[in-house]
Amino acid sequence: MSKLLVFNVPAHGHVNPTLPVVRELVSRGEQVAYYLTDEFEPQIHYTGAEFRRIEYIQPGSGPPPGVTAMGQTDPAMRRQMLAAFFPQMMAEGLRLVPRLVNRVWAEDADCVVYDPFCPWGRALVGILGLPAVAFVPSYAMTENFPLVRRLSALFEEQTSPEAEEAMSDFRDVSRQLHDRYGLVPLRITDPFITAEALNVVTLPRPFQPDADALDERYVFVGPSISPRSDTSGFPLNRPADNPTLYVSLGTVFNANPEFFDACFDAFADSDWQVVLSVGTRTDPSTLVRIPDNFLVRPHVPQLEVLEHTGVFVTHGGMNSVMEAIYYGVPMVVVPQQPEQAMTAARVAELGLGVALEPGQVTAGALRDTVTTVSGDPGYRSRIAHMQQAARDAGGYLRAADVIQQFGHQQR
Ligand code: UDP
Repeated sequence: MSKLLVFNVPAHGHVNPTLPVVRELVSRGEQVAYYLTDEFEPQIHYTGAEFRRIEYIQPGSGPPPGVTAMGQTDPAMRRQMLAAFFPQMMAEGLRLVPRLVNRVWAEDADCVVYDPFCPWGRALVGILGLPAVAFVPSYAMTENFPLVRRLSALFEEQTSPEAEEAMSDFRDVSRQLHDRYGLVPLRITDPFITAEALNVVTLPRPFQPDADALDERYVFVGPSISPRSDTSGFPLNRPADNPTLYVSLGTVFNANPEFFDACFDAFADSDWQVVLSVGTRTDPSTLVRIPDNFLVRPHVPQLEVLEHTGVFVTHGGMNSVMEAIYYGVPMVVVPQQPEQAMTAARVAELGLGVALEPGQVTAGALRDTVTTVSGDPGYRSRIAHMQQAARDAGGYLRAADVIQQFGHQQR
């Protein structure tokens, strides 16, 4: 048995893929302690891991209603919001480190598993010199990856007062950790870069661009999915009995009333049973007119809904895209931030669906693209191939295999 610590950010898209892996490791007799915020305690207990409470509020998890970075039609405003968001996220995250250093050292763990978006995980690994696995619920990227280069340029060019203040705050916190613990200063693009001794990537290899440039430290396990037991109260019979269109902007940048309105206009008089997940920051009762063929909820049992879905209109969050692939559902992707824009382009390039630029999202465009994707059997057959690659990659069981083996090697 080895002892593993898991560090993650309190965001469903980052936590969800780790849960089946942790549950599997615990069932194999490994000792796992998972550091996360209160709201995730029930999910961590469900895996059988020990829950370690941290106090942290993810910046940007509540942008003002109706304002999303990619939803901004003004590109300058969009860049400004993003350029402030990442340094803010890094600075807030690194402020946790002094409170965790002794606690984590006292764990006497064999290794750490951390999500690259979790700055305190990366910093603790650096400070304490712990063997580490990066658990990557998205693309595996190095400095040369185009998105990383684009983000570096964005941060360098950005001059808004908010972005400058956030950047200087991030540099200050980073410097303090360097002075106090000798931590090599983190870079603002670090959330996107992983180069640990083992990097577990939850994509099927054919979905990763330039996969051949990555060596054997990168293991592509495909979507990490297992039943979540969160279906209670949802009328699953409606998607099960009717051709279903599922629409969701995910759990982070999702408060977007204009987009919901466009969906109502596009599909009110259609034959689709529409399931619309609006997110927890929108109260469905405040939406003025919900057409009869719509089921609108703050949160829906996405895996079970996808099992009965014909087309998925998604923001292109990596989990949502992987879940669509896992269930063989073609997509219309309406990205809300840069990584999702990259995924929208990847989905289109691989012929698994169609991408809509933020400025193109109108009722007419939504209706047309959904009709194209549902009417052309090519989308379904290409996604069926990717589904096979995803299922062959081994998922959470393979992830548990390689992490378990890594943990044993460190003892
Ligand atoms: N999700 C869900 N029900 C919803 C909306 C989202 O279960 O109504 C889950 C979804 O299955 C996925 C995660 O939340 O696992 C969203 O992650 P993703 O990476 O797609 O997007 P994010 O929310 O991080 O933007």
